[in-house]
Amino acid sequence: MSHFSLKNGVLHAESVALPAIAGQFGTPAYVYSRAALAASLQEFLDVLASHPAGAGSLVCYAVKANSNLAILNLFARMGAGFDIVSGGELRRVLAAGADPQKIVFSGVGKTAAEMKQGLDAGIFCFNIESAPELDRLNEIAGQCGKKAPVSLRVNPNVDPKTHPYISTGLKEAKFGVAYDDAFELYRRAAALPNIEVAGIDCHIGSQLLDPAPFVEALDRILILISRLTAAGIHIHHIDLGGGLGIKYKDDQVQPTVASYLNPLLDKLAGSGLKVVLEPGRRLVGNSGLLLTRVEFLKPGEGKSFAIIDAAMNDLMRPALYEAWHDILPVIPRTGETRAYDVVGPVCESGDFLGLARPLAIEAGDLLAVMSAGAYGMAMSSNYNTRPRAVEVMADGDKIHVIRQRETVEQLYAGEQLLP
Ligand SMILES: *Cc1c(COP(=O)(O)O)cnc(C)c1O
Repeated sequence: MSHFSLKNGVLHAESVALPAIAGQFGTPAYVYSRAALAASLQEFLDVLASHPAGAGSLVCYAVKANSNLAILNLFARMGAGFDIVSGGELRRVLAAGADPQKIVFSGVGKTAAEMKQGLDAGIFCFNIESAPELDRLNEIAGQCGKKAPVSLRVNPNVDPKTHPYISTGLKEAKFGVAYDDAFELYRRAAALPNIEVAGIDCHIGSQLLDPAPFVEALDRILILISRLTAAGIHIHHIDLGGGLGIKYKDDQVQPTVASYLNPLLDKLAGSGLKVVLEPGRRLVGNSGLLLTRVEFLKPGEGKSFAIIDAAMNDLMRPALYEAWHDILPVIPRTGETRAYDVVGPVCESGDFLGLARPLAIEAGDLLAVMSAGAYGMAMSSNYNTRPRAVEVMADGDKIHVIRQRETVEQLYAGEQLLP
C-alpha cells in the first residue's frame, strides 16, 4: 500500500524509478507522491463523513508542515481548508486557491498587519493565544469596520508524551491561554465590540502516536464549553488542532485516523458543534522522501561515515530533535553491511541524517531518506550557501517539478555591497 516501494530491485515513487528522477533533476531532491497525499487527506474526510458528528466539519491542513503551492492546491481541490501561522502563509494559501472561509489563523505573535490581512481576506477564524492579542485584534477590527471571529486557544494542560520541543499544551508552554484563565478571557472577548466569539481551539503537541491525550484534552474543553454556555457565551465550533503522529520507524505503530477521531466524534455527537481539525504532519509526512547521493565513504576503525549530498540544511529534524528517518538504498546491494553515520557536507557536527545505520553501499549510490514530507523542505535553509533542493511530484508514471532547485544567484540577489 506504500506509494514508495521496490519494483524489480529499484525503489520507486508510484511508478517512477528514483534513479530516473536523480538523472533528470539531480540530487538532493524532495520526491512526493500525489496518490499518497490524496489518500492521507481522504482518510480524514472519510472518517468525518461516516460519523454523524462529522457533519459540516472542516479539515484545515497545517501549512507549516509543507507549504508548496502544488500540495496546497491539491488539498484545496479536495475541499480542505488551511491552518496558517503568518501573513506569508495566508498569501500562499490564497495563491493556491484556498477558500477564505476555510482558513484558521493560529500563532502567538500575529502582527497588526497580519490581522488586517486576515480580516480583509475574510477568514473563518482567528485562534487567539493571549489577552493582549485579543485586544489588538479588537482594535484592528474596529479600524477595518469589521467584527473578527475568534476562538481562544486553550491550554488543557495535558501531557502529550512526545518530544519536549513539539509538546505545546502544557501549563508552561508559550502557546495558548491557561485553562484556568480561559473562562474570564471569553467573558472579556464576548464584551468587546469588534470581536465575535465563534469557537474554541486547542493543540496539545505533535507526533502523538497514542490518541488518549486527545480524548483527555477534549474532556477538559467540553467542561469549559458547558460553563461558557451556562454564562450565555455560545461556542459554534471546536478546533481540535493537529498532532496525529506518523510511523517513522519499524517499531512504531501509526494509529488509524478512525481510531483517533471516532472516540472524539462520539463525545461530540449531539453537541451541534462544528468540528475543525488542523493536521499537518499526518497529511504529508509519509508522502515524501529526500533523495540523495553518496559522495564519499569514509570507513574507520571507530566510526564509518557515508558523506551524502544532502545535509542538515535540507532536512533539519535529525539535528534539531534527534529525529529518526529510515534511510534506504535506492538499489539495494547484496553483501556485507557496515554501520555508517550518514552525514552531510555542512560544517557542523550536528549535520547528520542518521547515525550507525547498517548499510551495504558504495560511493555514487542513491539513498532515500524516508518520511521527509513534513517539516523537511519547510524547515530547510540556505546554511553554507546551499541552494534548496528541487521538489518533484510523482503522479502515476509521470513526474512534475513543483519547485525548481534554487540557484546561488537567487541566494544573494538581495545583498548589496557597501559604497
Ligand atoms: C504545528 C501545528 C499544527 C500541526 O501539527 P502536526 O503535528 O503537524 O499535525 C496544528 N495546529 C497548530 C496550532 C500548530 O502549531
